[in-house]
Amino acid sequence: MPSSPDQIFRPEILALSAYHVPPATGMVKLDAMENPYSLPSELRDEIALLATCAPINRYPDPSAALLKAALREALAVPDGMDIMLGNGSDEIIQIIALACARPEAVLMSVEPAFVMFRMIATFAGMGYAGVPLKADFSLDVDAMLAAIAQHQPAVIFIAYPNNPTGNLFDASAISRIIESAPGVVVVDEAYHAFADASFMDKLAQYSNLLLMRTLSKSGLAGLRLGLLVGRREWLSQLEKLRLPYNVGVMTQLIAEKVLRYPDILLQQAVAIKIERAAMSERLAALDGIDVFPTDANFILFRLTQGNEASQVFQRLKERGILIKNLDGSHPLLKNCLRVTVGTPHENAQFLGALQARL
Ligand code: PMP
Repeated sequence: MPSSPDQIFRPEILALSAYHVPPATGMVKLDAMENPYSLPSELRDEIALLATCAPINRYPDPSAALLKAALREALAVPDGMDIMLGNGSDEIIQIIALACARPEAVLMSVEPAFVMFRMIATFAGMGYAGVPLKADFSLDVDAMLAAIAQHQPAVIFIAYPNNPTGNLFDASAISRIIESAPGVVVVDEAYHAFADASFMDKLAQYSNLLLMRTLSKSGLAGLRLGLLVGRREWLSQLEKLRLPYNVGVMTQLIAEKVLRYPDILLQQAVAIKIERAAMSERLAALDGIDVFPTDANFILFRLTQGNEASQVFQRLKERGILIKNLDGSHPLLKNCLRVTVGTPHENAQFLGALQARL
């Protein structure tokens, strides 16, 4: 008699719900923090040429040396710090968790945070401790320090700016956490392109700090490329867990090419930030909506009249507009929705549909 999954797989895996990506064909897609703009046609032509000649019969360069050099320059990675690449930063979170997963080891983050922190802790067989943010979504430093003392986490993930709330935490509060942590602290700067703050220059100061970035939010989500920056003593160990060919030939070639024109993604980020300000203002002007401050390429807002976030989400979806419903995902996110900043046209469609619904 063959065994069934529930006899073989770990109970915590059986109990998980898969990360849900809703179908979005034909919709105004404002749910996943993608950059809505494509690359200029001259650059797309250059990429087409690269694709024609790409040696896809060969495995990619496992060390991705050229791409790493381009990233080092484009991101101003400090001298003396190493880079590790991942198939998206999701994969890097997983590599770190696998490395930390001694029996009883704990991965810590805040709540609400990027859901993959908790999920990946489970994948790796780690314990998870999520410390609630304050009601204004700022860090509760005292609660964090108490939780650190209690759980002695092997690793703490802090997204800066945070997803799904969009805010930057107080930098000195994060520093206190780094100073108190018995293990590594990963500052996840996935939304760095839209924020004017970074812990990159703190890497030299803190021996237990690692910094994560991704190209996903700034325009290359389809390539799947994330990176971790930190000291060799950490990264040389993590490299052992990275599957040898995790970043494909096309991703290496295209990302390296795009990085040669840093102004393109930079200007798109500027356009997104301008549109973010306009959209926040227009949202805040609607009755029954509280808009939270954001340093990312998305806006979190709460419906204050009635308990109708799920209905509004559904109505927008019926009108072909996909955003993210966060109601029910955490007590602090009651009646909250999250919208990614799209093109001015997409945002106008969203605002029009929302206004009609309200
Ligand atoms: N970190 C944060 C805070 C995120 O919001 C996301 C994507 N939603 C990621 C990491 C993962 O991004 P990617 O795997 O595309 O690099």
